[in-house]
Amino acid sequence: MQKSNRCIALFEVRPTTHYGKIGRQSDRTIDQSIRHSWSFLHSLWILMRRKPHRQHYNDLNRLSSIDLMKFTFLLLTALTVNLSLAPAGVTPLPDKVAAVVPDKQASQIPDAEKLTGMLGERVQNSAINRLLQTVDPDRLLEGYRKRPGRQEWDGEHIGKWIHAATLAWVYTGNAELRAKLDKTVTELIKCQLEDGYLGTYEPEKRWTSWDVWSHKYNLIGLLTYIRYTGNLEALPACQKMGDLLCKTFGEGPGQKRVIQVGGHAGMASSSVLEPMVWLYRLTGEPRYRTFCEQILSSWERPEGPHIVSRLVEGQGVHKVGNGKAYEMLSCLNGMLEWYRVTGDDQLLQAALNAWKDIVAKRLYITGTCSSHEHFQGDYDLINYGNVGETCVTVTWLQFNAHLLRLTGEARFADQLERIAYNQLPGAQRPNGKGWGYYVQMKGLKPYNENLTGSCCLSSGPRGMALLPTFALTTDADGVVINFYDPATATLTLADRSVVALDVQSQYPAAESITITVKPAKPQTFALKLRIPSWCDNASLQVSGQSAPLTPGKDGYVAINRLWQPGDKVTLTLPLKARLIAGDHTNEGKAALAYGPLILAVDAALSDGQNNPALPGLDLAALKFTVEPAKETYLAWPEAQVFRITVDGKNYGLAPFATAGCTGSRFRVWMRLAGAIANDNLLENGIESRSRQGNLEGSILDDLPVVTFDGKMATEDWYAVTLDKPITIGKLVFSQGKLFHNGGWFDASAGKPQVQIQETKNSEWKTVGELAKYPSTTATDNAKIRAGQDFIVTFSPPLTATAVRVLGKPASGDAPHQAFSSCAGLRATAP
Ligand SMILES: [Zn+2]
Repeated sequence: MQKSNRCIALFEVRPTTHYGKIGRQSDRTIDQSIRHSWSFLHSLWILMRRKPHRQHYNDLNRLSSIDLMKFTFLLLTALTVNLSLAPAGVTPLPDKVAAVVPDKQASQIPDAEKLTGMLGERVQNSAINRLLQTVDPDRLLEGYRKRPGRQEWDGEHIGKWIHAATLAWVYTGNAELRAKLDKTVTELIKCQLEDGYLGTYEPEKRWTSWDVWSHKYNLIGLLTYIRYTGNLEALPACQKMGDLLCKTFGEGPGQKRVIQVGGHAGMASSSVLEPMVWLYRLTGEPRYRTFCEQILSSWERPEGPHIVSRLVEGQGVHKVGNGKAYEMLSCLNGMLEWYRVTGDDQLLQAALNAWKDIVAKRLYITGTCSSHEHFQGDYDLINYGNVGETCVTVTWLQFNAHLLRLTGEARFADQLERIAYNQLPGAQRPNGKGWGYYVQMKGLKPYNENLTGSCCLSSGPRGMALLPTFALTTDADGVVINFYDPATATLTLADRSVVALDVQSQYPAAESITITVKPAKPQTFALKLRIPSWCDNASLQVSGQSAPLTPGKDGYVAINRLWQPGDKVTLTLPLKARLIAGDHTNEGKAALAYGPLILAVDAALSDGQNNPALPGLDLAALKFTVEPAKETYLAWPEAQVFRITVDGKNYGLAPFATAGCTGSRFRVWMRLAGAIANDNLLENGIESRSRQGNLEGSILDDLPVVTFDGKMATEDWYAVTLDKPITIGKLVFSQGKLFHNGGWFDASAGKPQVQIQETKNSEWKTVGELAKYPSTTATDNAKIRAGQDFIVTFSPPLTATAVRVLGKPASGDAPHQAFSSCAGLRATAP
């Protein structure tokens, strides 16, 4: 926190002292204003005395009488200035160890700004509807009060909640949330054992699997809480945890290596680096520094993940450790905290290489990465299959936020916009109560409100709570506008002067953004604007005059001038629709974007359909229109939905942020008529089945369907028909859902068969069978598993325009009826 350095001497860390609750807005007192003024005065006083920044409070005793007169004058000035323009009610506790590499762009204390548009709605909903009203801390503490926890990483949730809830409390000033936080922190600390252990494992199972990981999140939560509340009662608990980690892990006799006690090539446990750097900086204790050094060296041991060396060599992130995305990004975030302390340029280089690799080869259009929780091979961006874990989305957001602070370059804010307007809100139920785990490019939104062991549900709110730390901020030259959500902000510049901002916009529903700049008195500084990379025809007016839009080295357009209070800047970002051609995995498909928003066809807005075949890449042919959103899609007052016309049929699209919010099927990548999809040759086809059934799914989206209609049948089939012939080397049938009364094929009279049509509407011809399908009967499913794949290989390959799998449905325990179920049908080239 840049902002805090000014008051380091007055807020010297004394581990046993309670500073009292540092209030904000709603519960702010004159005493706190005086405290701010004192800290402000203290910096003035330091300047006056021309002494090094780190002064001790006792130095006040050595003031001369002239100094005291100046001091009194400055005290009065500071009180006056601060009472009218104090940016916020919270003064974070300063670090004892200053950063060797200072931030180029400040990380704001969340109460410096208030977002009131699309993003503001989501941040507020997350704070109140989820963190305050939905999450039950007693559930999160359960595994600590009665060890072990429900499952191995059950301990992570409480620290993640404290982290998010602290930031959300600073942002909202909600007194109930603060009371809930205080109580929860006290209850968590009560669970700490004498030796400092604060995990959910039984003694004999300590330091296996996800135990260090839970300590990491407890440190992240508690250190954030201490920093923003000033309540040092939790500091001894953090130091005891830190000391236990130092005692347990290291190179000495009887010690373990931290990379040996957790999964994913040691990346899970060694990601404790991030809060251990914080603990070192807050306390200045050298043993925590030593611990961090050991983590860095353990990464490069033969059995380690080689995070720094492989990235510096220019290897892709999928070649680092075991490629597990959430754990690796967590380590990279810790590595950048360590870079702040050490200034080791190699670490920044490793991070920049990782960023470039992800953006070029491993990033989804909506701003997430990973499938099956790992970074995959180059351009291997499948649209479904455990895509976009929300924990990955949030750690990727944090990684970009770190790089933005360290470099001050707009390209990182551009990625933050992509995440904040698409994948992050896309993972959140619009009312903020629930979150999704994997949030894929097509299918259904998997919102869930209960934790049930799901890491992502505690991660999402952390991402939301971080948005106000970088939306509007400052750098050495002045004010920086990263996001254009309507907002008010009170920002402190490098010279400690305070500038208020008022951003009026309906972004991303309208193109005009007016920023009113309100310094306390006329003042010269830069106002920096990020021109989003999607926008190629922006225009700018400063106090009514046209101004050039030439970006500086940092990528921002800077307006350097003497600002009068009330000066206005109007930025116009024309919001045209864009049709984006897919490549690699999405060859033969296209996606639609509108301003910063990625859109998705939503079956609920399209009479149940979500699979149009676009005639080509000509936008005009789609008759694209925009209209106000209604009901659940109205996630903020200006929310919009979109329409296109394909083959005379009308399809509705929603921003990815709300697509599927009513439980409907959606898809980002639409097929191009006549094209063959790369990942699944059947993908651009039309699916059908013998009976419609009562489950809304799609065998082309890996969403199970059934043929259940309460009636008996002797034959069921699942088919896909294509516009033109394909050459198939392999066909995969994925078993659907299983029920007590059916859901599988009865194989007693023969295995399910594969049939094709060689030309359009020709006779079905049997070309193979699901040979490995178990020996099921009408009543026995032979332990077949939902999602189990059955593969048929064709040698030589087959040419077909339609393909189907056919079998006899099973009855289970209800003999008067029978039905089957299929979760997916995929075909690949030879
Ligand atoms: Zn997760």
